[in-house]
Amino acid sequence: AWRNAQLYAELELRAMTDTLTGLLNHRWWDELATREAARSTRSGTEIGILLIDIDHFKRVNDQCGHAAGDALLRNVGRAIQATLRTGDAAVRYGGEEFLLMLHDTDGLGAMRVAEAVQEVLTKLPPPGDGVDRVTASIGIAFFPRHGAVLDEVVNVADVAMYQAKAQGRDRIVLAPDPVPQPVSPLVRNTEA
Ligand code: GH3
Ligand code: MG
Ligand code: MG
Repeated sequence: AWRNAQLYAELELRAMTDTLTGLLNHRWWDELATREAARSTRSGTEIGILLIDIDHFKRVNDQCGHAAGDALLRNVGRAIQATLRTGDAAVRYGGEEFLLMLHDTDGLGAMRVAEAVQEVLTKLPPPGDGVDRVTASIGIAFFPRHGAVLDEVVNVADVAMYQAKAQGRDRIVLAPDPVPQPVSPLVRNTEA
């Protein structure tokens, strides 16, 4: 029975791992990320969500070939993983999109990790002729500050990431703090 349980755990882990990069995959995000968020809610700390999208990745495929594109994704995955503390999670969220989940972090801490990601990307071997630099656009948002559920926070990080693209790519955008909603006068009167 113990051996069966162990086999089952191995299969589960494999099903939640991206085969190309070895990072966690979207299934992990859908099934287990919420559990991690609950842990953070209990401890009263924030989770930083970094959404990292490789700039002009299509050029790598077009100019260096799909195999070179795959090799680059593997290298990016390994590089990103190396910037993390134990307990934090790196997810291949889409084709050339990566998500980092940073526990117990603030704006400054998340910014430092994003800068570390930019730094490791500059050190990657160039994917091939015609493409000599790999950069990424990074959006940052926080749970629960930017959303009551994780997927809402990802949407906010996504908007920030697209701002980074629009501003010229190879940059980091921190989502602005949400504007506090005014309390309705009716509610205020009731409480007074
Ligand atoms: P941008 O700077 O706006 O992000 O441009 P981009 O070219 O990175 O963005 P776009 O979304 O147009 O292109 C992403 C490309 O990533 C398209 C898709 O074919 C490629 N891609 C997705 N998954 C894989 C993969 O597993 N391997 C390879 N080689 N390419 C992939
Ligand atoms: Mg993309
Ligand atoms: Mg891209």
